[in-house]
Amino acid sequence: MSTDVKDSQVTKRDKSQNETLLEVINLKTYYPIKGGILRRTIGAVKAVDDVSFEIKKGETLGLVGESGCGKSTAGRTILRLLEPTDGKIIFEGNDITNVRGTTLRKIRKDFQMVFQDPYASLNPTMMVGHLVSEPIRNYYKKSQSELKPEVIELLEKVGLPEDAYYKYPHEFSGGQRQRIGIARALALKPKLIIADEPVSALDVSVQSQVLNLLKELQDEFDLTFLFIAHDLSVVKHMSDRIGVMYLGGLVEVAEKDSIYEEPLHPYTQALLSAIPEPDPRKKKERIILEGDVPSPINPPSGCTFHPRCAHATSECQKIKPTLKEVKPGHRVACHLYN
Ligand code: SF4
Repeated sequence: MSTDVKDSQVTKRDKSQNETLLEVINLKTYYPIKGGILRRTIGAVKAVDDVSFEIKKGETLGLVGESGCGKSTAGRTILRLLEPTDGKIIFEGNDITNVRGTTLRKIRKDFQMVFQDPYASLNPTMMVGHLVSEPIRNYYKKSQSELKPEVIELLEKVGLPEDAYYKYPHEFSGGQRQRIGIARALALKPKLIIADEPVSALDVSVQSQVLNLLKELQDEFDLTFLFIAHDLSVVKHMSDRIGVMYLGGLVEVAEKDSIYEEPLHPYTQALLSAIPEPDPRKKKERIILEGDVPSPINPPSGCTFHPRCAHATSECQKIKPTLKEVKPGHRVACHLYN
């Protein structure tokens, strides 16, 4: 991916308040596995298994890991699109883990999602003006004509012309469709946006444009982001802090620079070694991970990374490491740092 993303904007935002917007505590999301004639629960896919982190107001936390590591499930659980199996989700100091009905509906307008595939997430039979205004109409019962100026302003903010209002999703390119999805996500003036691989379906040439747009909007709308991606270079330019997930668990969390300059967990080190070095004069040793990601139905004992880790010991096979702070703000789950 092109790296001409405006990195400086990350520091531009005022984080003086240092207030926590979202706190996730020991979150678990298991999918039951049914079997037998009576379709009894015979096991569970541990998609998210005991994950804890927090996001400050105005901050972007990047969540990375290979496909199937549970990062998207974590995002959807926080939005309450999936039911958590256990743990707590605290938003602005309120426990929203089990809220339902009108309370959930009220809170939902503060969270929005930007999806990976903008086309699949937009109703192809609806005009863009109606698509963008739909969340507002649902919440505030305003008429389309009342909302038109607001929608046109939103379209302009995401870099779309006024006449986009009258067009349909198929008339736009992938990058423009993602801009429509972003305008729709902004319509209710949310506090938190969960962006799930928002640029991975786009051409490399437009990825940085969309990332820059998200950063500009973050400043303008005072947004907080949970930015989910498998591509560490995308996460680097978007995030203030980064969390690395492996097989449903968080294995490392730290400030962006700390992760990129001194990754501690062997899995993070392997992920980072796979990023191509743009300067051919600099030599970079690639760490090849052996084997595949194990099944979350029956995860390995102890440290779930042990079957693929070059540093694994017998302790690693038996005892699950917990996420511990080993340097200020840098937490890692690995016995090497005990
Ligand atoms: Fe490797 Fe052991 Fe650390 Fe797990 S705990 S990452 S197996 S060294």
